[in-house]
Amino acid sequence: MKDCNCIFCKIASGEIPSATLYEDDEFRVILDLNPAAKGHALVLPKEHYANLFEIPEDVLGRAAGVAKKVAAKLREGLHASGLNLLQNNGTSAGQTVFHFHMHLIPRYDNDALGIAWKPGKLTDQDRDEILSLF
Ligand code: AMP
Ligand code: ZN
Repeated sequence: MKDCNCIFCKIASGEIPSATLYEDDEFRVILDLNPAAKGHALVLPKEHYANLFEIPEDVLGRAAGVAKKVAAKLREGLHASGLNLLQNNGTSAGQTVFHFHMHLIPRYDNDALGIAWKPGKLTDQDRDEILSLF
């Protein structure tokens, strides 16, 4: 199912050109136009799924396989010392394009890229509430 108003559907299908690092029947991996770091890439499924909650498990698994392959090549080719695999779901989580995608962000020593949060403290109440959900 394609969403005709979705920019990533158009990029993934090839209707809009992109800097493509990898493509197969199911996925396209492109360079992010606003990279957080050199080599910042996005794994896009060609089918439209808005987010993690919509994407089927088997497609997600194959997306992870593609991410792993491209990540290894980016790390080696760009001599990165690390890499963040990020995936945002919902506006509150920073998602701005509502077509599932994984970010591959190569990291370099002393790159000063702040992907961080202030660690809190797990309370007994939260722990018990969350454990009771499973
Ligand atoms: P997110 O905030 O997780 O939804 O990420 C969306 C990402 O898509 C951002 O990093 C944008 O820079 C990137 N982006 C948006 N439009 C394009 C485009 N046309 N080509 C490549 N990357 C894009
Ligand atoms: Zn889409």
